[in-house]
Amino acid sequence: MKLIIFDVDGTLCHSKYIDDKCYINAFKKALNINIENTNWDTYKHVTDYYTTYDIISKSLNIKPTKDIIDKVIDTYAEELRYKVYQVENKYTAVPGSKELIKHLQEQSELYVTGIATGGFEKTAIFKLELLGLDFPKENIFCSGKYVTKHEMIKAFIQKENDNGRILERVLYVGDREYDYIVTKELNIDFIGIDFRGNGKLRSLGIEKVINNYEPIEKFLELI
Ligand SMILES: [Mg+2]
Repeated sequence: MKLIIFDVDGTLCHSKYIDDKCYINAFKKALNINIENTNWDTYKHVTDYYTTYDIISKSLNIKPTKDIIDKVIDTYAEELRYKVYQVENKYTAVPGSKELIKHLQEQSELYVTGIATGGFEKTAIFKLELLGLDFPKENIFCSGKYVTKHEMIKAFIQKENDNGRILERVLYVGDREYDYIVTKELNIDFIGIDFRGNGKLRSLGIEKVINNYEPIEKFLELI
């Protein structure tokens, strides 16, 4: 049995422009914070919970409570729901992602698939629904309950072990250097998605990098 875990943003779909905009607006609206550093790659953990906690504590010089964090999450989700329907095609599935997930899920004797995303549960599930990507709820691990991707992936593996599944291989599919670092630290396999074709992942020496999932055989050969 192979466990194949996907990131969402930049991996299964593209939503960066609207996503960033809504996230940044949420801080302004909810807490009147102008985020100074929007280069997410420079944060220690690129998950919404971690960056939100970090931004609030540095901007307001406080230890953020759950209520304050929830205020940002709710505003962000609201912004996203409102904006996403304003202009068509704000969200784009990475070509072939839907077909690939469907294929893997049909081969349920070979693969378990799921999500470990840096996004908050509210926004991540909204995006998956928007894209028509269907995963069992218990296979979706989000930021909020977990702070780092390490924690999410470890919890997913633990769940499979608890279910008595023997995992011959665990793969994480992601688009950021952070994703790759997490897989190295957890000693699991990594497949990089370079949808924009900027060559960043390949420049880090990562061999298994594809631009999209078409044809899906290209991906299947890597796993
Ligand atoms: Mg991503």
